[in-house]
Amino acid sequence: MSNQDWQGKHVTVAGLGVSGIPAARVLNGLGAVVTVVNDGDDERSRAQAAELEAQGITVRLGDGATLPESTELIVTTPGWKPDKPLFAAAAEAGVPVWGDVELAWRLRGHDGREPAPWLAVTGTNGKTTTVRMLASILEAAGLRTAAVGNIGVSLLDAVLGDETYDVLAVELSSYQLHWAPSLRAHSAVVLNLAPDHLDWHGSMEAYVADKGRIYEGNRIACVYNAADKATEDLVRQADVEEGCRAIGFTVGTPGPSQLGVVDGILVDRAFVTNRQKQAQELAEVGDVNPPAPHNIANALAAAALARAFGVEPRAVRDGLRAFRPDAHRIEHVAEVAEVAYIDDSKATNTHAAEASLAAYDPIVWIAGGLAKGATFDELVSGAAKRLRGVVLMGRDRALIREALTRHAPEVPVVDLERTDTGAMSEAVREAARLARPGDTVLMAPACASMDMFANYNKRGEAFADAVRALADESA
Ligand code: ADP
Repeated sequence: MSNQDWQGKHVTVAGLGVSGIPAARVLNGLGAVVTVVNDGDDERSRAQAAELEAQGITVRLGDGATLPESTELIVTTPGWKPDKPLFAAAAEAGVPVWGDVELAWRLRGHDGREPAPWLAVTGTNGKTTTVRMLASILEAAGLRTAAVGNIGVSLLDAVLGDETYDVLAVELSSYQLHWAPSLRAHSAVVLNLAPDHLDWHGSMEAYVADKGRIYEGNRIACVYNAADKATEDLVRQADVEEGCRAIGFTVGTPGPSQLGVVDGILVDRAFVTNRQKQAQELAEVGDVNPPAPHNIANALAAAALARAFGVEPRAVRDGLRAFRPDAHRIEHVAEVAEVAYIDDSKATNTHAAEASLAAYDPIVWIAGGLAKGATFDELVSGAAKRLRGVVLMGRDRALIREALTRHAPEVPVVDLERTDTGAMSEAVREAARLARPGDTVLMAPACASMDMFANYNKRGEAFADAVRALADESA
C-alpha cells in the first residue's frame, strides 16, 4: 500500500501494549484516523492513552468489545483471541482484521524502497533459537539482515526504519500467523508441532492450520521437519509459487532434498547440483551451541533457509560458530555440591520440557505454573525413569502431580503451595535436598510463568538468584 492509501482511512487498533501502541503511532503518522480500543482501564493504560491522545489518536478505555462507527480496518494485537466480540462485529460489518505482522507486510515498500524478502520461522519450540542462528548465518554471508518478530527489532521498525536490509529472519507466532492472511515469505519453516496455546486457538486443528499459513505463497522453499509428519503434511497442503521446493531436515541421515547429519557432519542434500549422489558438508555438530539433538535440528532448519536464499556452505559454518544462545534456554547456572543447576525457564510447554528432560539423567525436576490447557501424561511417563524427585509449584501443579501419581508413583514429590516471591528459593532448597552428587536440578516448568512471575525471564532470574544464594551458603 502506498502512503496515500492511508490518508483519512478509519482504522481501529485493538489493544494497547507492545504492538498496539507502535501500530497506532505508525498509522497516525501515515494520515489514518486512528481509534484505539482497550479492555482495561487501569492507571497504566490511562497514562498510555494520554500520550496517544496528545498525538491526535482517540483512545477508548474499558470497552474493547464495541466496533467504533465508520471503522474500515481493524489492526489487532496478536494476543487478542479470535472469539472476541469485536471480531464478530467486524465480520458482520465486513471489516477486515490484520495483526501486527500483516500490517508490517503491507507497509513494506510503502516509501518506494525495494522491500527485503522474509525468511520465516514458526513452530511450537525453537523459533527464537532458529531465527537467531539464521540471522547469524546471513550476517556471516555478508548480508544486511536482522532477527525480527518477537525478538530484537520489531517488524514495524524493520520495515519502516532507516536501515536497509537484504533479507530478514522473521520469527512468527501462531497468533501472528492467524492474523496475517496476505503474508508471502521467500521461504519458511515449521520446526515442529505439539499442542500449545489451545485455549487461544480453540483446537489443535485450528492451531496447526494457523501455523501452516506460513507456507502459503512461498517462492523458493518450504522447509519441514522429517521427524514430524504434521509439518510435511502442511507443506503438501500449501498453495505455493510454481517451482517452490519441499525441503526436509533430519538429525539422521538425509535423503535427497533433505539436510541432515552424517558422521557428526551437518550435510546438505538439497541445494546441490546432483542431490541423488552429492552431499555438501556444511558444519560439524560441534559447531552448534549447545550440540543437543533438538538444537542440531534448529541449526539444520536455519541452514536450510539460508541455503534456500543462496548462502554459501562456509557462511553456514561461520554463522553457527558465532551464534550464542539466549538466556533461560538450558542455561547452566552453577554447580553446587556436585549437583548441576540448569535454567530452562523458556520451556513453557510440555514439548519444550520434553527436549530438556531428555538431555539429563538423573534429574530433580522443578515444574509447574500455567498449563494453558495441556496434559502431562506423555511428558511424565517419558521422563519417569530419569526422575530422582520433583518439586511442583504454581497454579496448575495438581495436573502434573496427578500425572506423576499415574506414571511415576515411586518418585518423591514436594508440592509447594506458596506463590509469593520466596517460593522459588524454597523450590531450589527442596530440590537440593532431593538431589545426590552427579544429579541435575532442572527448572523446565512445562508451563507458562504468569501466575507467579511477570514472565519467563523473571522466573529464570528468580531461579538463578536462589541457586547463587545456595552456592554462597555452601561455600
Ligand atoms: P520459541 O521461540 O519457539 O519459544 P526457543 O528457541 O526460545 O523457542 O526455545 C524454547 C524452549 O524450547 C527451549 O528452552 C528448549 O527447551 C526448547 N526447544 C528449543 N528448540 C527445540 C526443538 N527444536 N524441539 C523441542 N524443543 C525445543
